[in-house]
Amino acid sequence: MSLTPTAAEKPTVLIVDDERFNLSALHALLRDDCRVMVATDGEHGLTAARANLPDLILLDVTMPGISGHDVCRALKEDPATQSIPIIFITALVDADDETHGFDLGAADYITKPFNHAVVKARVRTQLRLKAQADLIASYAFRDGLTGLYNRRSLDQKLEREWHRCQRSGLPISVALLDVDHFKLFNDTYGHGPGDDCLKSVGAALGGCIKRSSDMAARYGGEEFAVILPECDPSAAAAVAEEVRAAVEALAIAHARSSAGSVVTVSVGVATLVPSEEALPSDLWAMADRLLYRAKESGRNRVALPGAGQ
Ligand code: GH3
Ligand code: MG
Ligand code: MG
Repeated sequence: MSLTPTAAEKPTVLIVDDERFNLSALHALLRDDCRVMVATDGEHGLTAARANLPDLILLDVTMPGISGHDVCRALKEDPATQSIPIIFITALVDADDETHGFDLGAADYITKPFNHAVVKARVRTQLRLKAQADLIASYAFRDGLTGLYNRRSLDQKLEREWHRCQRSGLPISVALLDVDHFKLFNDTYGHGPGDDCLKSVGAALGGCIKRSSDMAARYGGEEFAVILPECDPSAAAAVAEEVRAAVEALAIAHARSSAGSVVTVSVGVATLVPSEEALPSDLWAMADRLLYRAKESGRNRVALPGAGQ
C-alpha cells in the first residue's frame, strides 16, 4: 500500500504516545509512506504540532501529565491547528470514552493492540481527506488560472503588513502591473492563448519574488500586483523593473502591440510609511495613477513616484 506517490510529497504524521513500544511499532508501520515525528508526552506533542503543523496526529489518550483529550481540546481551540485530523490511540473500549473523543473533534479511533492493516487503512483515509480539505481551502485564496494568490489574499496581506509597518515605522511598497494591449492579444490569437499568456506572465512575476514576506497576486483580469513590505522606493523600483524585463524576456509574440513585438507590461509603483492618516487602499490608488502614467507614456515601462508628478 502506498499513501503517496513520491517522497517529496510525503505527508507528515505526528505520533504522541508515552509508551515507546507503541511509538516504535507505529513508526515502523508508517515510515515508508509518511514523514513521521514522535513525541512522548502531551506537552511535547502540543509543541511539535504547533511548530510543524503535521497532516495527521496519532494521539494516545492515557498519558501522564497532559492527557490526549486535553491535547486534542487545545489543538481544536487554536485556529492554526484545528484542521489537523486527530486519531486517538486507546486501549479503552468504553463507548462513552469513544464518544467523548469524537465530541472533542477526533477524526477516528485506533484501539490497542494494533491491527497493522487497520491502522494503515485508517491513516490513509484521514490523510486523503486532509489532502482534499487542503485543496479546497486553497481555492479560497488562490487564483485558479495562474496559481498566484487572489485579490482577497492580497487585500488581507496588505492589511496585515500595513499594521506591521505602522508599528515598525518602515515603508511598504506595492506594484501594479497591467498587460499591454491584451484585448488586442486575445483578438489576434484567441482566448485560449490569452489564458496561456496570463499564466506565463504570472509565472514570470512569481519568479521575481524572492523574499518570503513579499506577495505576488493576480489583481483581476490582466492585472497583477505585488506587495513588498519593508521595502523602500528604490528597492521597489528594482523589483518592478525586474518583473517588466522578465515578462519581455518571455518573448511571447504580440504582433499588434504598439509597445513592441512581444507581450509586455506597464507597471506603477507606490510606497508609503503607514500612518493613522493614510489607508492601505491609498497605496493601490497611487500605484494605479502611476500605472496609467506608464501606459500614457508608451507602455512597457515602470512609472515611479516623483519625477513629473
Ligand atoms: P492596455 O494596454 O491599455 O492595458 O490595453 P488592454 O487591451 O490590455 O486593456 P483592456 O482593459 O481594454 O483589455 C483587457 C483585456 O483583458 C480584455 C479582457 O477580455 C482580457 N482579459 C481579462 N481577463 C482575462 C482572462 O482571464 N483571460 C483572457 N484570455 N483574457 C482576459
Ligand atoms: Mg487592464
Ligand atoms: Mg491591459
